[in-house]
Amino acid sequence: MEQQRYRIETLAVHSGERRPGPEGSVVYPIYQGTVYTVPAGTDYHDIRYIRLNSTPSQVFLHDKLAALEGAEAAVATSSGMAAVSTALLSLLKQGDHLLAGDCLYGGTHDLLTQHAADLGIEYTFVDPQRPEGWKAALRPTTKLFLVETITNPLMRVPRLREIVDFARRERLLTMIDNTFASPVNFNPLAAGFDLVFHSATKYLNGHSDLVAGCVLGSRERVEKVRHTLNHFGGALDPHAGYLLARGIKTLALRVRAANENGLALARALAVHPKVKQVNYAGLETHPDHAHARELLRGFGGMLSLRLHGDNGAAERFLAALRIPFVAPSLGGVETLVIRPAFSSHAGLSRADRERLGITDELVRVSCGVEAAADLVEDFNGALQAV
Ligand SMILES: *Cc1c(COP(=O)(O)O)cnc(C)c1O
Repeated sequence: MEQQRYRIETLAVHSGERRPGPEGSVVYPIYQGTVYTVPAGTDYHDIRYIRLNSTPSQVFLHDKLAALEGAEAAVATSSGMAAVSTALLSLLKQGDHLLAGDCLYGGTHDLLTQHAADLGIEYTFVDPQRPEGWKAALRPTTKLFLVETITNPLMRVPRLREIVDFARRERLLTMIDNTFASPVNFNPLAAGFDLVFHSATKYLNGHSDLVAGCVLGSRERVEKVRHTLNHFGGALDPHAGYLLARGIKTLALRVRAANENGLALARALAVHPKVKQVNYAGLETHPDHAHARELLRGFGGMLSLRLHGDNGAAERFLAALRIPFVAPSLGGVETLVIRPAFSSHAGLSRADRERLGITDELVRVSCGVEAAADLVEDFNGALQAV
């Protein structure tokens, strides 16, 4: 279907769908077969084989994903980490250097700090909110700038326009993790980024029941990533791909609900006397609110907060909540709460966590699609109990 003519709500439902579908089916089936007959002379990467990410269910999903980000092409991966690791391995080689945001998702941070040196790849963490610090971090070997649309768990929004301008001037590739914003709230390719990836485990699937990732961009770059993926082996199984395509159909509805819940909860918590701080870019008090408003169509369903009082306060607060589950991860229909210092950022040293503001009492919330009024009541009730 022609991508530009339709809005995200319509694309989420119809993009990639075959018309007519196989046997006239409205729902695209699962092609579980690992292998297909091959015409003589077919290029290796075009052989239809499951690990080569070329079978009908995989190609169907790629078309659907690409439309969401207005990308020429997409490739699905077995996880979000497979997406970022494969993309980095296809863009960088031994001796290359990259700039990376200094508050990356824990897994991406650990990938760099624990494996880049062994691969001969160097990196420098830079503050993506402070353009004045970037130039000094450049080296003759710098190839790439890696950032996230909304950082975890303080919900900072980097200077994305400035990053694209800087990278163009300095001839760097730009790669962005758009998981927290989702394509509903931000489309990095339209803003000038070269390559986007998602943990599709989160909003894209939206039901906390599969692990997947994807990389999106120009046909040429995505083909390069797919070839690397074909060699390293992080293909997505068609069963999970089917569930992901099904989840995507309601993406716009779910993210809009999460945006509304995030804003309602952030506003309610911000004026509560027991709450010391709320981190949500939709609040006028957030340090990135002005440029976030320009960049994003919605501020998302992720927020974090600090309570007044001792360390036990956060624990008592979590125990008193009735609607959310206390669990890591995010982007599902159910609201989740977690303390990042003990989960996503447990791999950082205490000193690094303190420097980044990820103190023990920080609570992160992933808003689901429940009624905003129920969430606000539940959070207010739990605050009463601490
Ligand atoms: C979860 C997550 C990842 C990693 O994705 P997996 O699907 O768990 O491998 C990467 N980036 C962000 C922002 C995430 O939230």
